[in-house]
Amino acid sequence: VIPDGAVALDGDTILAVGPRAQVEDRFGPGERLDAVLLPALVNAHTHLELSHLHGRVPGGEGLPPWIQLLVSTRLSVPEEDTAIEDAVAQLGRFGVAAVGEVTNGLGALPWLARAGVAGTVFLEVFGFTAPRIERALAKARLLAAGAPPLGPGLRLSVSPHAVYSTHLPALAELLRAGPGSLHLAEDPAERRFCAESTGPFASMHRSFGVSELPRLGRSAVAAAAAHLRPETLVVHVVDLDDEDRALLCAAGSTAVLCPRSNLHIGGRLPDLARLLEAGIPLAVGTDSLASSPSLSPLAELATLSRAWPELPPLALLALAWNGAAVGAPAVGRLAPGSAPGLLAAPIDREALGEGPFDPARWLLEEFGAEELPFTWLARHRPEPTA
Ligand SMILES: [Zn+2]
Repeated sequence: VIPDGAVALDGDTILAVGPRAQVEDRFGPGERLDAVLLPALVNAHTHLELSHLHGRVPGGEGLPPWIQLLVSTRLSVPEEDTAIEDAVAQLGRFGVAAVGEVTNGLGALPWLARAGVAGTVFLEVFGFTAPRIERALAKARLLAAGAPPLGPGLRLSVSPHAVYSTHLPALAELLRAGPGSLHLAEDPAERRFCAESTGPFASMHRSFGVSELPRLGRSAVAAAAAHLRPETLVVHVVDLDDEDRALLCAAGSTAVLCPRSNLHIGGRLPDLARLLEAGIPLAVGTDSLASSPSLSPLAELATLSRAWPELPPLALLALAWNGAAVGAPAVGRLAPGSAPGLLAAPIDREALGEGPFDPARWLLEEFGAEELPFTWLARHRPEPTA
């Protein structure tokens, strides 16, 4: 944190960051803003095509009943023309320059490209038996081949949904082939399904006519561990034990936390303190508007900050600056020569109390918690890929 700091810009490119006196010595007097300046943010887990289901899928009973409700609601509620467009505009208000977007239909691609949002679009497949996953893969490859042009800084990757829904050999092959995003250990029912082939996920597969349900491993993490790579995102990681955390740490995958979605669906948070202690790389996402009140990564961090007030605010903010996790390596740091996107969070001096001003804590506990809109001072301009 630099009090009375300054950023020198050439267009959207950062030239220098430092104390105002030093930057003004080199570049001349700057425009003065009463604001906290910070790099643009990353929302590492979204499902923008579920945006029309905002507030329509009640939770609280855990993941398996929530999925059933989501599927039936998705079938009965018509898609709204403007829902995805509005959601992408919301990402802009909340300072997001890069996403990890999970899609079944590529619906958000044109809107992301138009808004200049970078990152990875994960074309998600599932199917628990070999014939089902083969059909899903064929459909996904056809869809990917006909995809509209990607915006600069956007990449597309076919990716498995979850251990409990995806044929394990196909899951392994997809994660080996490129960047992937896997829902993992979101709910204790996954552990039960993997270890015992029982519980709600087993019943769900039996209802689809699948009779052979192999035991996949001690836990969902144990079942997937051998296939996880540093470029894999593992999303949620709520139901972990020490062995699971050791496996994730050894894999080097980035864990994406979506705390407000977890609270909505299962009433439980991922154990942030233990994840940090284990040294697992972390990022933050909102999940979809079907399970989260908004697409603000900072509001997610505000929720974590309330649960772990003893953790340094900058350690939490780092979760929203992990551009590398979604293939947008410049996003999240104000490095000279790069154009990561620069945000201003305006300070309302009259609303501030007495005492010292801690910008990082204020960003989480006031600006983020109240979901206030950022002002963009410079946009993210991805490096052209070779
Ligand atoms: Zn998800």
